[in-house]
Amino acid sequence: MADYYSNKGGNNVADYYSKIIPADPFFVPEEERLKQTADYLLGALVAMEVTVHLSDAPEFIDCGGLLEAIRCPLCGAELDFDWWTGLMDERYGENGFSDLTAVLPCCGRESSLDRLDYQAACGFARAEIRLLYPRRQPDGDCLAQAEALLGTPVRAIYSRI
Ligand SMILES: [Zn+2]
Repeated sequence: MADYYSNKGGNNVADYYSKIIPADPFFVPEEERLKQTADYLLGALVAMEVTVHLSDAPEFIDCGGLLEAIRCPLCGAELDFDWWTGLMDERYGENGFSDLTAVLPCCGRESSLDRLDYQAACGFARAEIRLLYPRRQPDGDCLAQAEALLGTPVRAIYSRI
């Protein structure tokens, strides 16, 4: 597995995470806001642990073993995993993914790696709030509160490793 994929396998116990990220892959929240949002989510989702991660360029925020298919967001065609991993390797630089451009093989149109239709959802972000073993999933109110605290629209990614 390449470095960008956290699903390295080999665990007998399933690790389950909820990951909250800015919807804009290049957005970096202020540290104080990140901390407040992390504290809020730890309590609201009744998680065992919360960690915050910042990076110099967008990183792949994966859904672990929940990834079953990737589709073109423009024409809906199912994308070949080999095409996708090839492009991911190409775009993965020293610090992460500074360029997310993707020209789709199905319809020839241009999109972005973070806009592909991942099933289940995946994303790209420079800031990640990761909650281990949350007992609740974030609902609309919870996400709205997280957006207000963080100062930017957010997305939730669910991951099982
Ligand atoms: Zn297409």
